[in-house]
Amino acid sequence: MKEKPFIPFSRPWIDETEIEAVSQVLESKWISTGARVREFERAFAEYLGVKHAIAVSSCTAALHLSLVVTGIGVGDEVITTPYTFTATAEAIRYVGAKPVFVDINAETLNIDIEKIESAITSRTEAIIPVHIAGFPCDMGALQRICQKHNLVLIDDAAHAIPTRYNGSFVGNIGDLSSFSFYANKNMTTGEGGMITTNDDAHAETLRTMRLHGIDKDAWSRQSKRSIWRYDITSEGYKYNMTDIQAAMGLCQLMKLNKQHERRQKYAEIYNTELQKYSQIKPPYYPENAYQHAWHLYIIQLQTGNRDDFVESLREENIECSVHYIPLHLFDFYQKQYGYSVGDFPIAEEVFERVVSLPLHPGLSESDVSLVVDTIGKVLES
Ligand SMILES: *Cc1c(COP(=O)(O)O)cnc(C)c1O
Repeated sequence: MKEKPFIPFSRPWIDETEIEAVSQVLESKWISTGARVREFERAFAEYLGVKHAIAVSSCTAALHLSLVVTGIGVGDEVITTPYTFTATAEAIRYVGAKPVFVDINAETLNIDIEKIESAITSRTEAIIPVHIAGFPCDMGALQRICQKHNLVLIDDAAHAIPTRYNGSFVGNIGDLSSFSFYANKNMTTGEGGMITTNDDAHAETLRTMRLHGIDKDAWSRQSKRSIWRYDITSEGYKYNMTDIQAAMGLCQLMKLNKQHERRQKYAEIYNTELQKYSQIKPPYYPENAYQHAWHLYIIQLQTGNRDDFVESLREENIECSVHYIPLHLFDFYQKQYGYSVGDFPIAEEVFERVVSLPLHPGLSESDVSLVVDTIGKVLES
């Protein structure tokens, strides 16, 4: 009997170009932050059409530094979604602020814009929306709320490369945007992240803060001697990206459009083919609106037990995942902030039904068909 092929949920899209680029950095003996990082930052900023890109060690670090640079700290409140990875809220805790969750929209799975204003208090300083799966939040509406209440808009764009909202790339809309290059993201450097902003002053401080607050230029402006000297001009963190990572990032950026075309093609096959199963609700994707990055393909199971469904697919060698367990259901968030079951009913309802199907550029069309057919088989039994 023929072995059933295994369809992995996600795989990084790496080939000889990354291996060659990383080897070159290793051979150069300059392996930490250097010329490749600057090159990667420039190329990334250019792709998005944004003024500044600051490379860091992760998206979590990017979110943390974005909160620090905008002066958010102890006693402040930051509005975000419970339907996200813990990193989003974790970064808020790093600065001693409180993550204030607002329930999600049942269609888009993004933060419910309608519910934000009633969560704003005199302590609210920022909003961190998350573009779930790569579908953009309503940035126009978020900007209006932020302007009205004098809040900072820091978007978690971990899924949102390349996402467009009204023609602009995500990363060129919010005050500060945070991207992730973690192993399973649309482009990867193994671990890594990027902050983008059009604010010159923030960009300059972020560049210094991400590496111990050290400013070499500050000293050299005063003296040509003593190249070993430096000044420390701001609070510092060890959040720099290495040239090894940046070399890989440059290759991934070159392939970004190609990988996106493949994700888009497979998402469209799923959109069409899954229509034949009434038990499955495909992801929200309005015709002609925006550009979805298709980081995740999240379906909602209308009948039956979600866990059983995922398990049955697994037995058929189809690897799925679930995004996300709402943060307010976790022990830590309940103990630390007093959240409890029932606080965000839409996020909870959605969580019970969601399944993320395999979606990555390494799949073939026949892999996608196999996933669709196997779903049919599992639904029948
Ligand atoms: C992956 C992810 C992060 C964290 O990214 P890292 O680069 O691993 O720090 C943050 N937010 C969301 C929504 C993510 O999916």
